Amino acid sequence: MAKSPEDEHPKKAFGWAARDSSGLLSPFKFSRRATGENDVAFKVLYCGMCHSDIHMVKNEWGNSIFPLVPGHEIVGEVTEVGSKVRKFKVGDRVGVGCMVDSCRSCDNCKVDLENHCPKMILTYSVKHYDGTITYGGYSDCMVAEERFIVRIPDSLPLDAAAPLLCAGITVYSPMKHYGLDKPGLHVGVVGLGGLGHVAVKFGKVMGLKVTVISTSPNKKDEALKTLGADSFLVSRDQDQLKAAFGTMDGIIDTVSAQHPMMPLFSLLKTDGKIALVGLPEHPLEVPAVGLVKGRKTIGGSLIGGMKETQEMMDFAAKHNVKADIEVIAMGYVNTAVERILKSDVKYRFVIDIGNTLKPTS
Ligand SMILES: [Zn+2]
Ligand SMILES: [Zn+2]
Repeated sequence: MAKSPEDEHPKKAFGWAARDSSGLLSPFKFSRRATGENDVAFKVLYCGMCHSDIHMVKNEWGNSIFPLVPGHEIVGEVTEVGSKVRKFKVGDRVGVGCMVDSCRSCDNCKVDLENHCPKMILTYSVKHYDGTITYGGYSDCMVAEERFIVRIPDSLPLDAAAPLLCAGITVYSPMKHYGLDKPGLHVGVVGLGGLGHVAVKFGKVMGLKVTVISTSPNKKDEALKTLGADSFLVSRDQDQLKAAFGTMDGIIDTVSAQHPMMPLFSLLKTDGKIALVGLPEHPLEVPAVGLVKGRKTIGGSLIGGMKETQEMMDFAAKHNVKADIEVIAMGYVNTAVERILKSDVKYRFVIDIGNTLKPTS
């Protein structure tokens, strides 16, 4: 007989879970596995709130498993390490992002692309190899194999580093892979939210000319003055668009809503590239003429491998790239969900788990 989430593992854990697709989060007792010889266990101190968390607690992608503890921007302090762990010790500052395991033997895993492993295990709401369900970071403790633990350098504040584990690597990886990280290149960032604002920051420290492309003109000041973008383009303004046609080497498209692609193709120079990192619900319309004229490329990207995630975190620390965050108490999380749905956050909520998650008896 299947054991309850509270009893299936030896270590007691506590967090907040959604019980059904209403998405309403409330206190939840469950358990974590004992720290294995290759495992790192840590006390969760902060967890970022990603838009995926909301899709998942509301079962909008149809694959949610309830009860569901969301959260894949998890940071904290190591409490226990297994006997074979070499890279981490008790007290280290660490994090876990979107995945907690992979097969480690496929072609992807062999070249540090665990994120593309067909058997990759997401941090929450999937069945792990042992048949138990994974639970995310809206909880007091975490355990994962050493390979899936990221070191958070001392110079980065833990709360503002948390969103880098998903939002940060999601934009950093395509910038590197598509060669959009060379000083002097002109790169457009479509959408100024959790992902977009970090893309602007990475772009600036890479020495790029960064243009924010947004539907809302009222984000202009924020983009230019606060985030340091070089220019701002209202995507519905035909005159502004035309003036920028053929000027960009690449575009990082972070938008998850339906949006026309043809204007974006027009913004690219010959051989320009668009990297998609958002996941619109319906297929995007890609007119072939937009690509064949000017030999343009459209590609995708999904988070990043563990080696690259560590590289991204170290790069962020070196150049002082942090997410802009609003720190909230655990009890505020349902209100925060409502506010995320209204885009009423600059730019990420981060839950102060360490100080505000209180076990109920
Ligand atoms: Zn995420
Ligand atoms: Zn694999």
